Parts: sequence; structure tokens; C-alpha cells
Amino acid sequence: MKSNNDDLPAFDTEVISAVRQDEAGTIQGAKLIQAGELVAFPTETVYGLGADGLNGEAVAKIFAAKGRPSDNPLIEHVAKKSDVRRLWSRMPRQARLLMDTFWPGPLTLVAPKSDLVPDEVTAGLSTVAVRMPQNKTARALIAKSGVPIAAPSANRSGRPSPTTAQHVLDDLGGRIPLIIDGGPCKYGVESTVLSLVGEPTILRPGAITREMLAALIGEVRVSESILNPMKAGEVAASPGMKYQHYAPNADVVVVQGSPEQTAKRINALYREAEAEGRSVEIAATEQTKAFYRGKRHLVLGDRNEPETLCASLFSALREMDTRADLILAEGIPAEDEGLAYMNRLLRAAGFHMIDASKES
Ligand code: AMP
Ligand code: MG
Repeated sequence: MKSNNDDLPAFDTEVISAVRQDEAGTIQGAKLIQAGELVAFPTETVYGLGADGLNGEAVAKIFAAKGRPSDNPLIEHVAKKSDVRRLWSRMPRQARLLMDTFWPGPLTLVAPKSDLVPDEVTAGLSTVAVRMPQNKTARALIAKSGVPIAAPSANRSGRPSPTTAQHVLDDLGGRIPLIIDGGPCKYGVESTVLSLVGEPTILRPGAITREMLAALIGEVRVSESILNPMKAGEVAASPGMKYQHYAPNADVVVVQGSPEQTAKRINALYREAEAEGRSVEIAATEQTKAFYRGKRHLVLGDRNEPETLCASLFSALREMDTRADLILAEGIPAEDEGLAYMNRLLRAAGFHMIDASKES
């Protein structure tokens, strides 16, 4: 047993590879879940920190290990579609079609909860968020556990979400007994959260886009909080949106405009900050990397394929954080998967954005 700085039980965190050791991780993980303990596991979005989703005491350990505010609800993860029946008190009209089209996958659906779901999961809300992950290891863990697994992302609260087992170990090593290592996550941003209470509304954007949902069920609203900071006194539709999120220790500034304008402004900001003695790094793209020759930069992906930027954003923030105290990041249009990218990036930046199409 290792020691922690706080009053939590301390663990010698074990990491089991889902690839090399096949079933070993999910067998051991299911035993821990059934015993009311926590297990970090891979999903196609980000790594999750799971507990028995029907056991309030076990779920409370998630909040303690992450340092998560208790009013931020968790997502119930199921291994098969029929499992939603005991978690929801009624099936919203559009739910069946959405589940048949996008499950298993990165879409979380919010509907009125049943009495079986503990208040610890929903933070006292009358609704519960449910998703069926695509990742086979995640589904095997849930199926072997025999219960839905309540899980948020497996990071320390406020830090960028983990997309590798190493990220989980960096944040939660010594605080949880087991991490199942399934390699890097496919999407790299958390699931789309769609509320089916009232008009269908996206509370958090992800790889399943507004456009994809609207093509199937008609009009889908996008919560205002997705690209805007919460105003004082405002009540969050999705409680997670009100917290400082995804933030590295470094300051993050987002620069928005055409690729050329963006690169020009970022270079000017870089020179200024360097002259002040700051260590700066640029979150660059394939289209703009040539502008940054001789400056410290990391290419995240392709501006025209926002899913590539999503896939590397969180690990890039963690990596640049070890070298820089200022990160200058390129903004992209908030359309399709670009909406999920800008939602996470703006939160990491505390909504600090510069419009490069205007004079400085
Ligand atoms: P995480 O996966 O760590 O980002 O945490 C789960 C996210 O789902 C949080 O941002 C919550 O705000 C959101 N969420 C979970 N349950 C609900 C719910 N019943 N209503 C609205 N949002 C929810
Ligand atoms: Mg999270």
C-alpha cells in the first residue's frame, strides 16, 4: 500500500493490459466492481472510472478519488440495450431509434430515472444519463460485473480527460486498485450527451454530431452553454458544464480566424510572450505547421478533419503542459465535430479567445 496526502484509502495501483492479457483485466475488474471498489477502464471516447452503478456507497468513492464536486452527475454504462429499461422510468419517444442507430457508440441519452438508480449517480437529479460503449473491453467488464457501471472520465477533477492508461496512472495512481489498459482511445473526446426530456437538446457535443442526430430525429437544439461561459446565477442543464474543465496548468489562449490570419497572430503572440521570458508552445495543424518553423509547436491533426484534432487534443494538452507555461491553440469552425473540439478547447482556455481577423 502506498500513502496518499489525503484521507483516502491508498492502493498499489495495478495496470493490466487488455491486449496482452486478454480477459485477465475484465475478470479482476468485475470482482472489484462487485466488491464495491473502483476500476478504470478504456472506452472509445476517454478512459472511465467505474463503480457498481446500483451501489451508492461504491459510487461515492468515484467522487472522492477524482475530487469531483458532488453535484456533477455520472453516466451509467450498459452492456446491452435492454438494460436501459430498469434505469429509466419511461422510454422517451425518440430513444429506440437513437439506440438502434448509434448504440453501441459515443452517444449518451438522458431520460427520467427509475428508483433503482442511486442519488449519488444523478447528483439528486430526476433524470439519468445512459450509454452503451462500443469498446469491447468496456462491454466485457460491464457484462461480467452483472450491473450497470457508473463512470465519469478517469482524470483528477478539472484536468484534461485521460486518453491512455498512463494518463489515468498519472492522475489516479495510488488512489484506485486497478487500471485496465486498452491502448489509446479512438475518439479522444467524451460522448455526445443528448437530453430527451422535452425537446431533444445536446448538452455536450461529441463524435455523434448535431447534424447526424437531426438527420434521424428532426430538430435538435444545442445548449447555449456549449460555446459560452455560464452567466452568474444561471442553472446548468448539464451540471458538468459549469466547472473549469480539461485545463492544463499552462495558460491556454485560442486564436480564431482563417489559417493564415491565425498563424500570423499566433506568431506575434509567441514572440511577445517569449520576450517576456515565458515558455510557449503552439497547438498547430497540418495546414499551418509551415508557418511555425523554428518555433516550438505540436501538430494535433488536420483542420479539415476535426475528428483528428479531437483525437489528440487531451493528450497534446497534457504533453505541452510539461514544457510550456503558455499554449497558443488554433480555433476552427464550430461545425460538425468541430463543435466538440471548440467546446473542449474553449473550456481548457477558460474561454480566453482572440479573433485574428481583427487588428490587435
Ligand atoms: P464526464 O463523463 O466525466 O464528463 O461526466 C458526465 C457528464 O454527463 C457530466 O458533464 C454531466 O454533467 C453529464 N450528465 C450526467 N448525467 C446527467 C443528467 N442527468 N442530466 C444532464 N447531464 C448529465
Ligand atoms: Mg469528465
